[in-house]
Parts: sequence; C-alpha cells; structure tokens
Amino acid sequence: MRVKILGSAAGGGFPQWNCACSNCRRMRDGTLHGSARTQVQAAVSPDNSSWYLLSASPDLPRQIESFPKLHPAGQPRETPIAALLLTGADLDQVLGLILLRESQPLRVYATRSIRKIIMENNIIFAMVSKQIAWEELIPSREVELTSVGGANSGIRCLPFALSGNYPYYVGGALASSMVSEEALLGLRLESVSGSGRLVYLPGAPFVEESWREYLETCDLLLFDGTFWTDDELIGVQGSGRTARQMGHMPISGPNGSLEQLAGLKRPRKIYIHVNNTNPILDEDSPEYRRLREAGWEVAQDGMEFDL
Ligand SMILES: [Zn+2]
Repeated sequence: MRVKILGSAAGGGFPQWNCACSNCRRMRDGTLHGSARTQVQAAVSPDNSSWYLLSASPDLPRQIESFPKLHPAGQPRETPIAALLLTGADLDQVLGLILLRESQPLRVYATRSIRKIIMENNIIFAMVSKQIAWEELIPSREVELTSVGGANSGIRCLPFALSGNYPYYVGGALASSMVSEEALLGLRLESVSGSGRLVYLPGAPFVEESWREYLETCDLLLFDGTFWTDDELIGVQGSGRTARQMGHMPISGPNGSLEQLAGLKRPRKIYIHVNNTNPILDEDSPEYRRLREAGWEVAQDGMEFDL
C-alpha cells in the first residue's frame, strides 16, 4: 500500500490568508526554516494507479494537480480517484467534495450522521449529490474498500469512533439529534495481503484505551498535530477556545500526545493537520527539536510512504 500526503496543515493552511502570527509572517518574508503547507489531505493506493482519498480538502483541486498519479489519463473524462473516505464533517475535511462537481461519478464513505450534515443541511452540496454513491461507515465494522466502478481494492478499512464532537457550525440542535459515535472517526487501513498498516487520525480529542492497540500495531501513524499547547490559539488571537475544546489534544504538556504516546515503539510516527500557529513548523525551534528527539516527524506536503 502506498500512502501519499497531499496536504499536511490544519484548516486555513500555512500560511493562512488572514494570519500575521510569527510563523505566517516569517514564512512570507522567507526567514522561517520550514515549508508552506496546504490543508490536510492524504491518499492511499493498493496498486499505485487507483487512489482512495482520506478526506476532501478545500485545496483538493490543486493537490490533484500537484500529483501526476491523480491526473486523468486516456478518456476525455476520467479519474484515478477510486473513492473518498470522510473522517468527520469539519470544513477543512469536506469542502473539497463540492469542488469535485463535474458530473464525475464518485464513491464516498462516511458515517450516516456525517452524510446527513453534508447533504441535508447545505444547499450547495446538492450540486454534487447526483454524482455520489454513498457507502456507510459503521464504527468498529471493518470493510474492504471498493472503487466507484465496483473493483475490490485489496485494502481493508476499520473505522473507529473517537468520541469527538460535531463541528461548531453544525449547531446544538442538529448535533444532539445524532449519535456521538458517528461524529469523528479514526481509520486503520491495511492491505488484505497483510503487508502494511496505516492509522490515520488527523483529529483526536484524547487517546482512548479502546483504540490504543491500533496505534501500537501499525507501521505508520499519522496523528493530530494541530497545536503544540492547549492555549496556543488564545495566545495568538487574545481569545477563543482551547485546543481540547476544539477537539484536539495538544502535543506538549500534561496528557499531551508526546506524553500519551511516548511508549509507542513500532510505527513511524508523524504529526499531521498542523495549525499555522504551531511552533513545530519552524525547524529551528526548540519544540521541533524536542519532537524529533522523541522520535516524531512533521508531515510535509508531497511525502510518500510504501507500507
Ligand atoms: Zn499564522
């Protein structure tokens, strides 16, 4: 199984259009030792020709252009995109769907609740509704992915509930009418042949014992690296919600992911979904050094892995 990182930043990307934090400012003036990043998007392929997209980033059209394996070849209208999998309803993970309008048939895997939020509460998504064949993801039920054309992928997917909340924009009344297990998923993907295992968790409110084993037994872990500290955004904006209130465990501090996952030995460990305010984007920072010393890496757009 091949894994491609097409985007590695949190919502807003890096730099973010309206942000003048130290990272964004120095990225623009060329004094930051680091790379610009588009909003989080990964893809996996069993054969290096058909691709399953993990989420649907608002940057998806240019991410497709950045990676020739995702270009159409042959027919006037076609795509190597076999299907998309949605792990939540955050805008930075679903807006890309609407940008794929062009009458191209698509297969989209999501929980019933995420499908409902997207299709029944957003009039503009009616633009793509006729294109989409939905496949339901049920937490803790493993499925073999199949392409929009019906071909078996040879990739098994185990979605698991992260006990997250529905996005802020959903609103209390709608959110409380839906089951919380369907709000936010982690994904474990592995080849049927047993050659490699990926765990994909771009958003994680905390590490739960019920799925810790998946992390310990995978080969590649892509984990929530949104914020370094719990109050990071408040420090930049002067107000707002903490990382944990936004459904992201911070990397540092008590019960941060560095501490919580310190015992992980097997997987290659990579932080993804990195917010533009996070000091780990600066490769000269002490925070970046600390994370590297703990055996972690920071995802960059364009990274590729063979499992
Ligand atoms: Zn910024």
